[in-house]
Amino acid sequence: MAYHMGTECLICEGSPLFFRRASDSHTLFLFCPECDSVWLDPSQLSAEQARFPEFEHRWVIPGTEFRIKGGGARWASGGEIEQVGWGHLVVGTFEESEF
Ligand SMILES: [Zn+2]
Repeated sequence: MAYHMGTECLICEGSPLFFRRASDSHTLFLFCPECDSVWLDPSQLSAEQARFPEFEHRWVIPGTEFRIKGGGARWASGGEIEQVGWGHLVVGTFEESEF
């Protein structure tokens, strides 16, 4: 199960932004599964704030030391999203098989 916001990706407009947990098993961020763009703070969603992890750099989020894929990275649970105070931003879910 993957939870998403009502906001579309500001880079590709091809998907809503999903809540994902980083490889440190702790940090939550917003993620576009279409173009792999990342935002660390849902209150600062702009094209300028987007970060672009790349396969060539082991999917590490620029400016951080954690990855969007591998390690403890996975879709954030509803409880994890509530815990960081972002629960009110959730507008829907997808089954992972829908990706
Ligand atoms: Zn995108």
